[in-house]
Amino acid sequence: MTVKIGIPRALLFYEYYPLWISFFENLGVKVILSGKTNKNIFTEGIKNTVDEACIPVKLFHGHVIDIKDQVDYLFVPRIKSIEKGEYICPKFCGLPEMIKNSIKDLPTMITTEIDFFQSKKGLRNTIYHIGKYFSNDHKAIQIAFDQAYLRYKKHKKSIQKELIENTKKVMVMGHPYNLYDENLNMNAFEKIKNRRIDLVTPEMLDSDMINFYAKDFEGALYWTFARKLIGTAMLIVDQQNIDGVIYISTFGCGVDSVVEDIVEKYIRKNSNIPFMLLTLDEHTGEAGINTRIEAFVDMIKWRDRIENNISAHG
Ligand code: SF4
Repeated sequence: MTVKIGIPRALLFYEYYPLWISFFENLGVKVILSGKTNKNIFTEGIKNTVDEACIPVKLFHGHVIDIKDQVDYLFVPRIKSIEKGEYICPKFCGLPEMIKNSIKDLPTMITTEIDFFQSKKGLRNTIYHIGKYFSNDHKAIQIAFDQAYLRYKKHKKSIQKELIENTKKVMVMGHPYNLYDENLNMNAFEKIKNRRIDLVTPEMLDSDMINFYAKDFEGALYWTFARKLIGTAMLIVDQQNIDGVIYISTFGCGVDSVVEDIVEKYIRKNSNIPFMLLTLDEHTGEAGINTRIEAFVDMIKWRDRIENNISAHG
């Protein structure tokens, strides 16, 4: 019988899914993903997580509940650092304990630590640690990973896009799980595109360029998410080829309470680019999101027509 591993469709799934899915499949494991975020997943997540947690962490719990009874293993790595010299939000590090303490009757959890703060030299060991649940053959595990990594790189390249002039463009920024979980953000991407506006996300920009700009930031950037978002803001302000910025955040995010503020102030101080913050929580209604996106897009279009006479600050 084929062994099954469950991957919750939440948090860093949205960044790494081509790598993770392909790695496990290359090892002959059947990957089961939780369903797309829906009302039930949301409700279960809220019910089974401590109140203080942010919305994406609550959703992660809901996604675990959605698949836990269908799989032999559950992939919940303990992620400390994904880039040398940088940490990510501490909630990722405590995720395995949160899940174990909040949800009963779990399958075997794979909670391998991912910590590349000192260097990426430990990558090989990390991979073996995960792969050994399914194979004793070190070489097969390495090959499975190398192939999966190639697929991941190809995917990253495929979503990058040139910023074509002559179209109105909105940068939608935020943590990938807030941007790419369409049911969490109530299809914000479609709502923007339906208004005939081109949409860009940080993932679509060249990451080397983002890092190049982030190096000039006057404060120290210890968080990977902060570097990516602040570097993106600096890049678009310098290149002046974006007509508006929508920052999608979620209620209870400690990181965003700092990063969003820096990004917003930087854009307002150094450019004329309109900026809007959308903060989502479990009570956010779709009508409110529609109205705010429509008003923002209309304002961008009107600004053009009346020669930039409308304030970028609302
Ligand atoms: S960065 Fe914010 S939204 Fe993401 S896990 Fe941490 S607190 Fe939650």
